[in-house]
Amino acid sequence: MKQKETLSTTPLKEQHIDLSNLLIEEMGDEHKASSVETPLRADAFDKTDEEKIAAIAPHFKAIMEILGMDLRDDSLKGTPLRVAKMYVKELFQGLNPANMPSMTLFENKFQYNEMLVEKNINFYTNCEHHFVPFFGKAHVAYISSGKVIGLSKLNRLVEYFSKRPQVQERLTMQIGKALQTVLQTQDVAVMMDAKHLCVSSRGVKDDSSNTITSFFGGKFQEEKRKMEFFKYVDINE
Ligand SMILES: [Zn+2]
Repeated sequence: MKQKETLSTTPLKEQHIDLSNLLIEEMGDEHKASSVETPLRADAFDKTDEEKIAAIAPHFKAIMEILGMDLRDDSLKGTPLRVAKMYVKELFQGLNPANMPSMTLFENKFQYNEMLVEKNINFYTNCEHHFVPFFGKAHVAYISSGKVIGLSKLNRLVEYFSKRPQVQERLTMQIGKALQTVLQTQDVAVMMDAKHLCVSSRGVKDDSSNTITSFFGGKFQEEKRKMEFFKYVDINE
């Protein structure tokens, strides 16, 4: 687990939120009850990262060999281990709650009570149905309930949930619900606008379509707030 900073290191009144605990508590053990949760096995983290890499590499090698590739070739021989490392250490490291970014809250000293919008957050993730990328922009917003969060934490949270095999609908909800938990408010909005390679590079080969998903909590369910959010985000930009 990440080390917690002490509250006395800074003059600002801070509050550290251990999101991993909060989320796990909130979700409980009823894995199947919540469609928001990534379906994980109970033994998901019994193996270390290194053990997972060592176990995945021969399987990926087998796939390449079955496809007919000659793994003795210089260009190919390192690929199975390279892919295994990339899966565990990069693309799918967000499966493990231990990798959840630490979230630091501050008192809303400025009494800023309007919505804060962080738009055009780039994200890259992988479709869990085809294991090819989908990527685009995330836009998140919240109205402070007395706490505010460092802006970069919004990016980190989007990145964390992106580093899993995903479907865009779940990714959007996971970010929205995590923000509600961290910020201690229902007033959170998330919109994601993405291109899916499983749609553009294969299958129907539709190059021009985007997929848009949204999450509106609390005050963002009001038409007026929604419209304000849309105006700031202006996804045609
Ligand atoms: Zn797909």
